[in-house]
Amino acid sequence: MLAQAFAGCFVATHVPIISIAAYVASGATISAQAILVIILLATVAGTAFAFVVMRHLLQPVGELARGLKSYRIEGRIPRLAKQRNDDVGQLTDEVRALINTLEEKLNRLKRQAFSDTLTGLGNRRWLAEVVGSEIARSRREQKALSVIVLDIDHFKSINDAFGHDAGDEVLVAIAEVAKRVLRPYDLIARLGGEEFCAFLPGTNLKEAAQIAERLRSTIAELRLEALKGRRITASFGVHEANLVREQFKDMLRIADEYLYQAKGDGRNRVQTIEIRPAVIQTAPTSASSPEV
Ligand code: GH3
Ligand code: MG
Ligand code: MG
Repeated sequence: MLAQAFAGCFVATHVPIISIAAYVASGATISAQAILVIILLATVAGTAFAFVVMRHLLQPVGELARGLKSYRIEGRIPRLAKQRNDDVGQLTDEVRALINTLEEKLNRLKRQAFSDTLTGLGNRRWLAEVVGSEIARSRREQKALSVIVLDIDHFKSINDAFGHDAGDEVLVAIAEVAKRVLRPYDLIARLGGEEFCAFLPGTNLKEAAQIAERLRSTIAELRLEALKGRRITASFGVHEANLVREQFKDMLRIADEYLYQAKGDGRNRVQTIEIRPAVIQTAPTSASSPEV
């Protein structure tokens, strides 16, 4: 590129001298004003030539700058084709490589920020991110959307009795049950601690309560070696969203209220608005607290 710039500048600045030399060599005699006009025109021609050369050399830099700006503002990855094999071409290559590295790192960070490393489920941040479009779709298609919130019963005592690693095993086992029982398009997340949540598209309250019941009984049947025969139970809050009035946080809050009613009513049960524990009290009273 340096050589091209030098050649361009050299030719451009020498156009007036070349013109004068050509005039002298031709042996013609013209007035001083005519010579001035020739020099002036040659200077303009030289400047135009220099401008065209510089524009040609710098055009890819401008494209690069525009691409980077749209990447910074809109996140659109620019299509950076290497046009030449000079400094600008190398700059384009480097910028492309830098953007690729940045994208890889960003995606990795996003995955980390959105997932729970212990269970492999999405976390609350992920749920908040993906539920928005599910809520919009359910509204558009006028389909039911239900939410189940689950909290492991007396989890602290499991940690206390068997250690934190055993507690972690329980969390992983619960996540596995959730993945197995729920459908692939249900959105399951670990909200934090020993609380999980699932959004069930196209599912009304009655169906969601049945699914929660299946989760409850499957969890109650789990036998983990680390717990030496002690049973795990969980309590559930189930809510069918009012898609006109409620947003993600409202849905979660209402399901959470039912969950805490289930805790208050003895744990190891599913609580919804319509189906009072007296009706859906699927768990025998004796199972309301875990066997130690
Ligand atoms: P409840 O039936 O009322 O829900 O009682 P609980 O003991 O389950 O609830 P509490 O909130 O008292 O205790 C939750 C415990 O969960 C305390 C905390 O140490 C434990 N915990 C939170 N996150 C993790 C984790 O990632 N791994 C393990 N092993 N324990 C965790
Ligand atoms: Mg708990
Ligand atoms: Mg809890």
